[in-house]
Amino acid sequence: MDPLVELAIRTSFFAVVFAAMALWEIGAPRRALVAGRNRRWPNNLGILLIGVICVRVLIPTAAVGAALFAAGRGWGLFHVAGLRLSVATLLGFLVLDLVIYAQHVAFHKVPLLWRLHRMHHADLDIDVTTGGRFHPFEILISMLIKIATVVAFGIPVVAVVLFELVLNATSLFNHANVSMPSALDRILRLLVVTPDMHRVHHSILRHETDSNFGFNLPWWDRLFGTYRAAPEAGHDRITIGLPIFRDPSELRLDRLLTQPFRDDRAESDRSASGL
Ligand SMILES: [Zn+2]
Ligand SMILES: [Zn+2]
Repeated sequence: MDPLVELAIRTSFFAVVFAAMALWEIGAPRRALVAGRNRRWPNNLGILLIGVICVRVLIPTAAVGAALFAAGRGWGLFHVAGLRLSVATLLGFLVLDLVIYAQHVAFHKVPLLWRLHRMHHADLDIDVTTGGRFHPFEILISMLIKIATVVAFGIPVVAVVLFELVLNATSLFNHANVSMPSALDRILRLLVVTPDMHRVHHSILRHETDSNFGFNLPWWDRLFGTYRAAPEAGHDRITIGLPIFRDPSELRLDRLLTQPFRDDRAESDRSASGL
Protein backbone atom coordinates (compact mmCIF):
# COMPACT_ATOMS: atom_id res chain seq x y z
CA MET A 1 0.00 0.00 0.00
CA ASP A 2 1.17 3.52 -0.82
CA PRO A 3 2.44 5.06 2.46
CA LEU A 4 0.50 8.27 1.76
CA VAL A 5 -2.76 6.35 1.23
CA GLU A 6 -2.09 4.41 4.43
CA LEU A 7 -1.45 7.65 6.33
CA ALA A 8 -4.66 9.17 4.90
CA ILE A 9 -6.72 6.12 5.98
CA ARG A 10 -5.23 6.16 9.49
CA THR A 11 -5.69 9.91 9.92
CA SER A 12 -9.30 9.93 8.71
CA PHE A 13 -10.16 6.92 10.87
CA PHE A 14 -8.59 8.64 13.89
CA ALA A 15 -10.48 11.88 13.13
CA VAL A 16 -13.85 10.10 12.84
CA VAL A 17 -13.44 8.11 16.08
CA PHE A 18 -12.05 11.16 17.89
CA ALA A 19 -14.99 13.34 16.76
CA ALA A 20 -17.52 10.66 17.75
CA MET A 21 -16.01 10.34 21.24
CA ALA A 22 -15.72 14.11 21.69
CA LEU A 23 -19.41 14.56 20.79
CA TRP A 24 -20.39 11.72 23.15
CA GLU A 25 -18.33 13.37 25.93
CA ILE A 26 -20.11 16.68 25.40
CA GLY A 27 -23.56 15.06 25.15
CA ALA A 28 -23.23 12.54 27.99
CA PRO A 29 -20.15 13.12 30.18
CA ARG A 30 -19.32 10.54 32.87
CA ARG A 31 -17.69 12.97 35.32
CA ALA A 32 -17.16 16.70 35.67
CA LEU A 33 -13.63 17.60 34.51
CA VAL A 34 -11.28 19.07 37.11
CA ALA A 35 -8.81 20.88 34.83
CA GLY A 36 -11.16 21.21 31.85
CA ARG A 37 -10.59 21.00 28.11
CA ASN A 38 -9.07 24.35 27.15
CA ARG A 39 -6.02 23.81 29.31
CA ARG A 40 -5.46 20.20 28.28
CA TRP A 41 -6.62 19.50 24.75
CA PRO A 42 -4.08 21.58 22.75
CA ASN A 43 -1.22 20.13 24.84
CA ASN A 44 -2.43 16.51 24.81
CA LEU A 45 -3.02 16.64 21.06
CA GLY A 46 0.29 18.48 20.59
CA ILE A 47 2.33 15.75 22.28
CA LEU A 48 0.52 13.11 20.22
CA LEU A 49 1.42 14.97 17.03
CA ILE A 50 5.09 15.20 18.09
CA GLY A 51 5.12 11.44 18.81
CA VAL A 52 3.57 10.56 15.44
CA ILE A 53 6.03 12.81 13.58
CA CYS A 54 9.01 11.31 15.51
CA VAL A 55 8.00 7.76 14.50
CA ARG A 56 7.38 8.77 10.86
CA VAL A 57 10.79 10.45 10.64
CA LEU A 58 12.89 7.93 12.61
CA ILE A 59 11.14 4.66 11.69
CA PRO A 60 9.26 5.52 8.45
CA THR A 61 8.49 1.91 7.52
CA ALA A 62 7.03 1.26 11.00
CA ALA A 63 5.35 -2.06 11.86
CA VAL A 64 3.70 -2.45 8.44
CA GLY A 65 7.13 -2.26 6.79
CA ALA A 66 8.39 -4.92 9.23
CA ALA A 67 5.50 -7.21 8.28
CA LEU A 68 6.27 -6.78 4.54
CA PHE A 69 9.96 -7.41 5.22
CA ALA A 70 9.23 -10.63 7.18
CA ALA A 71 6.72 -11.85 4.57
CA GLY A 72 9.19 -11.25 1.72
CA ARG A 73 11.83 -13.43 3.38
CA GLY A 74 9.53 -16.04 4.96
CA TRP A 75 10.76 -15.02 8.41
CA GLY A 76 8.92 -15.63 11.66
CA LEU A 77 7.16 -18.44 13.50
CA PHE A 78 3.91 -18.28 11.52
CA HIS A 79 5.73 -18.54 8.17
CA VAL A 80 7.87 -21.43 9.39
CA ALA A 81 4.75 -23.20 10.72
CA GLY A 82 3.02 -22.63 7.35
CA LEU A 83 -0.15 -21.18 8.91
CA ARG A 84 -3.04 -20.14 6.66
CA LEU A 85 -3.41 -16.36 6.31
CA SER A 86 -6.70 -16.29 8.26
CA VAL A 87 -5.19 -18.22 11.19
CA ALA A 88 -1.97 -16.17 11.15
CA THR A 89 -4.05 -12.95 11.10
CA LEU A 90 -6.15 -13.97 14.10
CA LEU A 91 -3.17 -15.25 16.08
CA GLY A 92 -1.09 -12.22 15.05
CA PHE A 93 -3.76 -9.87 16.40
CA LEU A 94 -3.86 -11.74 19.73
CA VAL A 95 -0.06 -11.85 20.03
CA LEU A 96 0.24 -8.10 19.38
CA ASP A 97 -2.42 -7.35 21.98
CA LEU A 98 -0.73 -9.57 24.57
CA VAL A 99 2.65 -7.93 23.86
CA ILE A 100 1.13 -4.45 24.29
CA TYR A 101 -0.35 -5.60 27.63
CA ALA A 102 3.03 -7.01 28.77
CA GLN A 103 4.81 -3.87 27.60
CA HIS A 104 2.38 -1.73 29.61
CA VAL A 105 3.09 -3.80 32.75
CA ALA A 106 6.84 -3.36 32.11
CA PHE A 107 6.39 0.42 31.74
CA HIS A 108 4.92 0.41 35.27
CA LYS A 109 7.41 -1.97 36.91
CA VAL A 110 10.77 -0.84 35.44
CA PRO A 111 11.70 2.51 37.05
CA LEU A 112 13.31 4.01 33.92
CA LEU A 113 10.32 3.09 31.76
CA TRP A 114 7.91 4.36 34.41
CA ARG A 115 9.59 7.78 34.13
CA LEU A 116 8.47 7.89 30.49
CA HIS A 117 5.03 6.37 31.02
CA ARG A 118 4.03 8.34 34.13
CA MET A 119 3.44 11.39 31.93
CA HIS A 120 0.39 9.55 30.55
CA HIS A 121 -0.85 9.15 34.13
CA ALA A 122 -0.11 12.72 35.25
CA ASP A 123 -3.12 14.10 33.35
CA LEU A 124 -5.44 15.61 35.96
CA ASP A 125 -8.50 14.42 34.02
CA ILE A 126 -9.10 11.46 31.78
CA ASP A 127 -10.87 12.02 28.49
CA VAL A 128 -10.50 11.22 24.78
CA THR A 129 -7.29 13.31 24.47
CA THR A 130 -5.61 11.34 27.29
CA GLY A 131 -5.80 8.38 24.88
CA GLY A 132 -3.07 9.99 22.77
CA ARG A 133 -1.03 11.55 25.58
CA PHE A 134 2.14 9.46 25.52
CA HIS A 135 5.74 10.65 25.62
CA PRO A 136 7.41 10.44 22.16
CA PHE A 137 10.16 8.22 23.65
CA GLU A 138 7.48 5.77 24.86
CA ILE A 139 5.87 5.76 21.40
CA LEU A 140 9.27 5.04 19.79
CA ILE A 141 10.10 2.20 22.24
CA SER A 142 6.63 0.78 21.73
CA MET A 143 7.12 0.82 17.94
CA LEU A 144 10.47 -1.01 18.23
CA ILE A 145 8.85 -3.70 20.43
CA LYS A 146 6.00 -4.03 17.92
CA ILE A 147 8.47 -4.38 15.01
CA ALA A 148 10.44 -7.08 16.88
CA THR A 149 7.19 -8.96 17.59
CA VAL A 150 5.99 -8.71 13.98
CA VAL A 151 9.30 -10.08 12.63
CA ALA A 152 9.68 -12.83 15.28
CA PHE A 153 6.17 -14.19 14.65
CA GLY A 154 5.90 -13.30 10.96
CA ILE A 155 2.63 -11.46 11.60
CA PRO A 156 0.79 -10.69 8.31
CA VAL A 157 0.46 -7.08 7.09
CA VAL A 158 -3.34 -7.26 7.30
CA ALA A 159 -3.15 -8.18 11.02
CA VAL A 160 -0.75 -5.30 11.73
CA VAL A 161 -2.91 -2.71 9.94
CA LEU A 162 -6.08 -4.04 11.57
CA PHE A 163 -4.47 -4.16 15.01
CA GLU A 164 -3.15 -0.60 14.81
CA LEU A 165 -6.49 0.78 13.61
CA VAL A 166 -8.42 -1.08 16.33
CA LEU A 167 -5.93 -0.09 19.04
CA ASN A 168 -6.17 3.58 18.06
CA ALA A 169 -9.95 3.42 18.24
CA THR A 170 -10.10 1.49 21.53
CA SER A 171 -7.54 3.79 23.16
CA LEU A 172 -9.70 6.82 22.30
CA PHE A 173 -12.82 4.94 23.47
CA ASN A 174 -11.50 3.64 26.78
CA HIS A 175 -10.10 7.03 27.80
CA ALA A 176 -13.29 8.88 26.82
CA ASN A 177 -15.23 10.61 29.58
CA VAL A 178 -18.51 9.09 28.43
CA SER A 179 -21.39 7.64 30.37
CA MET A 180 -23.31 4.57 29.31
CA PRO A 181 -25.82 2.30 31.05
CA SER A 182 -24.01 -0.03 33.48
CA ALA A 183 -25.63 -3.06 31.82
CA LEU A 184 -24.02 -2.06 28.51
CA ASP A 185 -20.65 -1.54 30.23
CA ARG A 186 -20.89 -5.05 31.74
CA ILE A 187 -21.55 -6.63 28.33
CA LEU A 188 -18.92 -4.58 26.44
CA ARG A 189 -16.36 -5.35 29.15
CA LEU A 190 -16.41 -9.00 28.11
CA LEU A 191 -14.97 -8.01 24.72
CA VAL A 192 -13.20 -4.68 25.03
CA VAL A 193 -11.68 -2.43 27.72
CA THR A 194 -14.39 0.10 28.60
CA PRO A 195 -13.93 3.66 29.93
CA ASP A 196 -15.08 2.60 33.42
CA MET A 197 -12.51 -0.20 33.39
CA HIS A 198 -9.57 1.93 32.23
CA ARG A 199 -10.44 4.85 34.54
CA VAL A 200 -9.38 2.66 37.48
CA HIS A 201 -5.90 2.60 35.91
CA HIS A 202 -5.74 6.41 36.14
CA SER A 203 -6.49 6.50 39.88
CA ILE A 204 -4.02 8.34 42.11
CA LEU A 205 -3.84 5.22 44.36
CA ARG A 206 -0.82 3.18 43.28
CA HIS A 207 -2.48 -0.24 43.73
CA GLU A 208 -5.24 0.95 41.38
CA THR A 209 -2.74 2.50 38.92
CA ASP A 210 -1.10 -0.93 38.80
CA SER A 211 -4.26 -2.67 37.59
CA ASN A 212 -6.28 -2.92 34.35
CA PHE A 213 -3.26 -2.70 32.02
CA GLY A 214 -5.24 -3.74 28.93
CA PHE A 215 -5.83 -1.18 26.17
CA ASN A 216 -7.93 -3.28 23.86
CA LEU A 217 -8.88 -6.85 24.84
CA PRO A 218 -9.88 -7.09 28.52
CA TRP A 219 -8.94 -10.76 28.91
CA TRP A 220 -5.24 -10.45 29.81
CA ASP A 221 -5.98 -8.57 33.06
CA ARG A 222 -8.40 -11.29 34.14
CA LEU A 223 -5.96 -14.03 33.09
CA PHE A 224 -2.94 -12.55 34.87
CA GLY A 225 -4.77 -11.30 37.99
CA THR A 226 -4.42 -7.56 37.35
CA TYR A 227 -8.15 -6.93 36.88
CA ARG A 228 -9.96 -4.50 39.17
CA ALA A 229 -13.68 -4.03 38.56
CA ALA A 230 -14.10 -0.53 40.03
CA PRO A 231 -12.19 2.16 41.93
CA GLU A 232 -12.52 2.10 45.74
CA ALA A 233 -13.71 5.72 45.86
CA GLY A 234 -16.29 5.17 43.11
CA HIS A 235 -16.18 6.75 39.64
CA ASP A 236 -17.60 10.07 40.84
CA ARG A 237 -15.08 10.56 43.63
CA ILE A 238 -11.94 8.94 42.22
CA THR A 239 -8.93 11.29 42.06
CA ILE A 240 -7.28 11.11 38.63
CA GLY A 241 -3.54 11.58 38.21
CA LEU A 242 -0.41 10.99 40.25
CA PRO A 243 0.80 12.34 43.60
CA ILE A 244 3.39 14.27 41.56
CA PHE A 245 2.96 16.87 38.80
CA ARG A 246 -0.37 18.13 40.18
CA ASP A 247 0.31 21.79 39.48
CA PRO A 248 -1.85 22.91 36.51
CA SER A 249 1.32 24.27 34.82
CA GLU A 250 2.35 20.60 34.40
CA LEU A 251 -0.40 20.24 31.78
CA ARG A 252 1.62 22.39 29.36
CA LEU A 253 3.31 20.76 26.36
CA ASP A 254 6.84 21.80 27.36
CA ARG A 255 6.29 20.39 30.86
CA LEU A 256 4.92 17.12 29.44
CA LEU A 257 8.08 16.67 27.36
CA THR A 258 10.40 17.21 30.34
CA GLN A 259 8.46 15.28 33.02
CA PRO A 260 10.51 12.07 32.55
CA PHE A 261 13.64 14.02 33.46
CA ARG A 262 12.25 15.85 36.48
CA ASP A 263 11.06 14.91 39.93
CA ASP A 264 9.12 16.75 42.51
CA ARG A 265 8.88 16.18 46.24
CA ALA A 266 5.96 13.76 46.20
CA GLU A 267 7.83 11.34 43.92
CA SER A 268 10.95 11.43 46.10
CA ASP A 269 8.77 10.75 49.15
CA ARG A 270 7.13 7.83 47.39
CA SER A 271 10.50 6.29 46.44
CA ALA A 272 11.90 6.87 49.93
CA SER A 273 8.95 5.17 51.62
CA GLY A 274 9.02 2.30 49.13
CA LEU A 275 5.37 2.81 48.12
ZN1 LIG B 1 -0.27 2.89 32.62
ZN1 LIG C 1 -4.58 5.41 30.03
